[in-house]
Amino acid sequence: MTAPADLAVVGAGPAGLAAAVTAADLGLSVTLIDAGERPGGQFYRHPAPALRARRPEALHHGWRHFAARARRLDAHRAAGRVTHLPLHHVWTVVRDDPGAGTGGWTLHAVAGPDETPATVRARAVLLATGAYERHLPFPGWTLPGVVAAGGAQAMLKSGLVLPGPGAPPDRARPRSRVRIVVAGSGPLLLAVAGSLAAAGARVPAVVEAADYTPYAHHLPALARNPGKLAEGAVHGGALLRHGTRLLTRHAVTAAHGTTRVEAVTVTRLDRDWRPVPGTARRIPCDALAVGHGLVPQLELATGLGCATRRTPDGTPALTLDTDQATSVPGIWAAGETGGVGGAELALTEGEIAAAAVAHTLRGTPRDPRRTAALTRLRARLRAFADAMAGAHRPGTGWADWLRHDTEVCRCEEVTADRIREAVTDLGARDARTVKLLTRAGMGWCQGRMCGQAVARLAGEEPAPDRRPLSCPVPLKNLAQLPEPPDTHEGAPA
Ligand SMILES: Cc1cc2nc3c(=O)[nH]c(=O)nc-3n(C[C@H](O)[C@H](O)[C@H](O)COP(=O)(O)OP(=O)(O)OC[C@H]3O[C@@H](n4cnc5c(N)ncnc54)[C@H](O)[C@@H]3O)c2cc1C
Repeated sequence: MTAPADLAVVGAGPAGLAAAVTAADLGLSVTLIDAGERPGGQFYRHPAPALRARRPEALHHGWRHFAARARRLDAHRAAGRVTHLPLHHVWTVVRDDPGAGTGGWTLHAVAGPDETPATVRARAVLLATGAYERHLPFPGWTLPGVVAAGGAQAMLKSGLVLPGPGAPPDRARPRSRVRIVVAGSGPLLLAVAGSLAAAGARVPAVVEAADYTPYAHHLPALARNPGKLAEGAVHGGALLRHGTRLLTRHAVTAAHGTTRVEAVTVTRLDRDWRPVPGTARRIPCDALAVGHGLVPQLELATGLGCATRRTPDGTPALTLDTDQATSVPGIWAAGETGGVGGAELALTEGEIAAAAVAHTLRGTPRDPRRTAALTRLRARLRAFADAMAGAHRPGTGWADWLRHDTEVCRCEEVTADRIREAVTDLGARDARTVKLLTRAGMGWCQGRMCGQAVARLAGEEPAPDRRPLSCPVPLKNLAQLPEPPDTHEGAPA
């Protein structure tokens, strides 16, 4: 068994990458574990070298922040201070047996396409597992050509491809550009629309379910973040340049097509996101990129018992102290796990967390000026993130988009009618009971696609994910685990 690292960082997105290189700068031994192939996470996702992208930075802003940290990571890897384990998916973190005297943690992962079992031991753990997209179902959302908004961005950033009909080209419109409607809610939509249009797609409309007036209730937060306002203006300018309409307080309430999406129905919404009768219109398209915000990915943290809070959009996120420590001693977190707030906030929190871990494990003094600057930056960015989350909080009226036969859980093919029946006829009052009665959320994605919608249909705010395994694990890997310590009478507890 190799000696434990000082710090295991799960996730090599902006938060985990910043944390890993800062911790190594401060003299800690670090193991950086990521399910992805290359560091960068969602924001700095970039093409594989084999694709020979000439300017991988073209689809990013703030690329230099990533490039600088990636160089530091390379240097630390070469010096043996950081062990980077790409394509490793951590499925659980367990506290070492107190009797062993290691005072640390064991992380279990599956590695690579063969799902080889891997374990990492560390004295402290930093969870930087990011977020996933929130999906609200509507008739036709399972048609080919309907993709997640962040998924479309990911396809473009990592594969340099656009969603839509692939080869062979559309014979009816051989020279035309693929038409992609971007819809849902949240600031990611503007970034996605801008990237798709810059990559050659025609984006006829960005359909945003919220409107921007709630931002006006947060003028101090806006005034403290001129950079964010400038970013919004850049996105707005890009939409104008590409001839894209921005429809606020509208939603795609149906997607139409036979073998794949051919058009969407766009409807005006009231304040609660209920469709306004008589306002529906069709927009022809080849693809729809749709997402209703992001949800922190918390399974590893909640599995350890870390406390959560509700962010202003009703989503659970980790409760963290000023050092980014969770409620479980020895476990820190940074980035979207503590509330969705963007890459700059994730970088900032990663650095704060790493300095706190070094201080806790080794007594490494913190640079007071740097700490104060990072703390101020975090407060400013978090205030903006809260304003953003409040403005894009899903309205309850989205459930009126559903038809009786709309599939809400696509893995288990559970329709809206069956969920409503479980609630109104069978008395289910929470998502768990709905799941037991209908199998909604029991499929391959384990509720990541439908969990938020099912909870809201059951009349509750979505609860934090609680799963013993954060991803599918082959039974043989579980069978190879060492026996848990014997806790029978007479044996050491
Ligand atoms: C699909 C998607 C696309 C996005 N695109 C954009 C965009 O274009 N522009 C923008 O401003 N924001 C985008 N975001 C928001 C973005 O997530 C954040 O702004 C930023 O990347 C957050 O950084 P992070 O380090 O907290 O998380 P992430 O960047 O999400 O990084 C988390 C990392 O953790 C890894 N991970 C998660 N669970 C495990 C596990 N159990 N074991 C091992 N590794 C694990 C993941 O592979 C990932 O690399 C997107 C979000 C999503 C979900």
